[in-house]
Amino acid sequence: MSFYRTYRPQVIDEIDNTNVRAQLLALLSKDRKDLPHAYFFTGPKGTGKTTAARVIAKLFNCEKSTKSGPCGNCEQCSSIASGTSLDVIEMDAASNRGIDEIRQLRERIGLSPVSSAYTIYIIDEVHMLTTEAFNALLKTLEEPPNHAIFVLATTDAHKVPPTITSRCMVIKFAKASKEELLHALERVVKSEKISISDEALQRIIEVADGAFRDAVKFLEQVSFSKGKIEISHIDSVLSLSTSHKVELFVSFIYGKEKDIQKALAHIHAAVSEGTDIRSFLTDVLQYLHKALISRVSEKNTSSDIQNLDRIIHVFTRAYGELRYSPIPELPLELAVIELFQEPVPQQVVTPSVSPAPPPMPKASAPQQVSTPVAKSPQAAPVEEVAPATPPPTRADEPADVSLGLLTHEKLLEHWSDFIAATKPFNHSVAGVLRSSRPKSVNGGIVTIEAFYKFHQEKLADIHTKQVLSDVLKKLFGEKVKIEIVLGKK
Ligand SMILES: [Zn+2]
Repeated sequence: MSFYRTYRPQVIDEIDNTNVRAQLLALLSKDRKDLPHAYFFTGPKGTGKTTAARVIAKLFNCEKSTKSGPCGNCEQCSSIASGTSLDVIEMDAASNRGIDEIRQLRERIGLSPVSSAYTIYIIDEVHMLTTEAFNALLKTLEEPPNHAIFVLATTDAHKVPPTITSRCMVIKFAKASKEELLHALERVVKSEKISISDEALQRIIEVADGAFRDAVKFLEQVSFSKGKIEISHIDSVLSLSTSHKVELFVSFIYGKEKDIQKALAHIHAAVSEGTDIRSFLTDVLQYLHKALISRVSEKNTSSDIQNLDRIIHVFTRAYGELRYSPIPELPLELAVIELFQEPVPQQVVTPSVSPAPPPMPKASAPQQVSTPVAKSPQAAPVEEVAPATPPPTRADEPADVSLGLLTHEKLLEHWSDFIAATKPFNHSVAGVLRSSRPKSVNGGIVTIEAFYKFHQEKLADIHTKQVLSDVLKKLFGEKVKIEIVLGKK
């Protein structure tokens, strides 16, 4: 079992976060039946919210509670620690935005606990709940049965309605201080009998940036080496792993090994390892900067330099967008997707008020049934087939019907035009489209593939679909239905 799990604080005294420990200790002055029924934990990732939620569960269900809180050893405490207690229900609101979870909660809430005094519901990432799920949760919080305890945890408190938080005891989990991290690391060092210098420990603390989980994981990573761990050892592990990761990532977006799937998977892996996206992107930009300078001094081909130049621009913009992104990795992902699309010259979007019928640029593609003349049978909607008269364009309006009949190839080719044309109607939908792709165009139905559940939900909204359909009509002159499917990344 990993260090983080093994040395996770089990009782109140072991909680490393001083402020949280003090607030939980204060609860001990009251009788269990007089304690609040709902708790709201807010703070960044890795600061010990789930750990503290389980300690709360023990506080209510421990069989041998003492003056300093739950014992950590009785049957109830052990089953809570191992995650096998039937009366502690942990839910993740991020999965399917909590719809199933809240339904399950409502079905279960009236039932008595199986083997203890209380049922504890721990809802992680509670800010992800849908409005309906929030409303359902609120109803339960307004009149909770005596045996139900709630612990709601979130990394994003602003997204939780005040009607929910006002019914809870709020506990803030700040980033861990250096002393608190040291407290956590020393517990592991002692038990595992790890030999490590003070400077090396301090370096781990710096790198962890206030997250207990990162600190303990990093200690585990370096603990396999022989002899005493020194600061030089830590630094070599750090630089080796970072520079290797950066190099690998760049190889997926630049050069012969280019592969969008691998590049996106790399970001995903970095995020689940707890990598800070901001520093990762900084490292990537530093690497690209060096590459650019060396190319210039080697008098390399200009296309090579242009290419690097473009990547650096796109990533620098993504860096600027990091601050405002609700999902830390999203700007980087969007940047990667953008880099894999051919740069589109601006004039394609608004060609002119040319009186010509829909032009067919690049009529070379042989599989395009509709290419020769627009008389093919599947060109069902009649309006756009009449090439005799120019499209009724008013001078102040951008030209409609300019890109020709809608096919899958066409839509792929003009995907970025489509996104640009959607932007004025809905900025955030355009953003979502950038990380989605056209899957098929068939019988008047355009199927768009989204790769995140919440993207799918956003695009599938009836008004959004109407906007998308209208924009396509404007661009291609064809009235289509929009379908949204969820694809695998
Ligand atoms: Zn106990």
